[in-house]
Amino acid sequence: MTKSALPEGAVIGILGGGQLGRMTAIAAAELGYRAHIFAPQGDAPACDMAYASTRADYDDLDQLNAFGAAVDTVTSEFENVPAEVMATLATHAPVSPGVAALSTAQHRIKEKTLARDLGIMVPDFAAITSAGDMAPAMARMANGAVLKTCRLGYDGKGQARLKAGDTGEEAFASLGSDDCILEEMVDFSAEASFLVARNAQGEVSAFPASINHHEDGILATSRAPADPAVLPPALLKDGQDAVAAIAEALDLVGVLAAEMFITPKGLVFNEIAPRPHNSFHWTIEGTKTSQFAQLVRAITGLPFGSTEAMGQWQMDNILGQHMDRLNNAIGEDGVFVHRYGKAEAKPGRKMAHLTRKV
Ligand code: AMP
Repeated sequence: MTKSALPEGAVIGILGGGQLGRMTAIAAAELGYRAHIFAPQGDAPACDMAYASTRADYDDLDQLNAFGAAVDTVTSEFENVPAEVMATLATHAPVSPGVAALSTAQHRIKEKTLARDLGIMVPDFAAITSAGDMAPAMARMANGAVLKTCRLGYDGKGQARLKAGDTGEEAFASLGSDDCILEEMVDFSAEASFLVARNAQGEVSAFPASINHHEDGILATSRAPADPAVLPPALLKDGQDAVAAIAEALDLVGVLAAEMFITPKGLVFNEIAPRPHNSFHWTIEGTKTSQFAQLVRAITGLPFGSTEAMGQWQMDNILGQHMDRLNNAIGEDGVFVHRYGKAEAKPGRKMAHLTRKV
């Protein structure tokens, strides 16, 4: 343990009150730390696990400053917290992710540009700021394309798929944003995600990779560690090196996930998230140290734990329309059930996840 590690009982400030904050708070408690959640009014299941909660909007400077003064370190469970909020909190305590990582992950062109600059393969892409940008950009996309808003897109929202030859002008109008990216359609055999933790000393700890299956743009299932027949060892190393290089370039302290497409030419970068990632929830049971515990270790200065996998795992997300599946699984032998404590099950809302050995 480094001399500067936060002592037991120190307070970890967590921005956001959802399931990622909740599972981070649980991991913090196991390591003897206390969580203080900052979340706007509304359902915030992380608060059930916390020693203190501040319920206020992110633009409430007085509450933000009081929160900053009350905590020893800050992390954020979601990447769309305004960068100014992190800048304000950084005047009180170390923050994870920092402003550079946050602002890069919040913008699809920024993250792809950084990846490309680091020598990571990215899909061909073009900035689209007006309908007139569509035709010349579409002319380059022989395989079709995906138009996405640069900001605030998640779980497939803020996206439109286009065939080669489409003008895309209607799609652009339907997204209602003048800050978009047009990406070539990548032909992939599978989707993989990679995760590293990085601490203030610049030490990096990589997790085994996950193979992900999405339904309607939302993660449905992750299997891990990735089957070498799907993700050969050389590509596993490429992905881990890529996400470590991005974490380094952003001077990130915390955890960083990257989603990549597996193609015959190698891995093609899709996006990063500077926070725990849904595709690594299997690490709670599946690795010696979970992604949440490793995040807590990274930001408190505790040494990293082992990320060795203990078998092969499958994680299934339970969305609001899957509550029957959840209820059936609760009594099933060998299924680890994680309910998030959310008030209302709406279609598409992540309510729980199930992890099992496969
Ligand atoms: P994203 O929000 O960027 O993660 O996109 C959601 C899902 O859409 C991804 O997990 C892919 O399945 C698919 N997708 C996104 N971008 C592309 C692309 N350029 N080519 C092919 N599929 C894509």
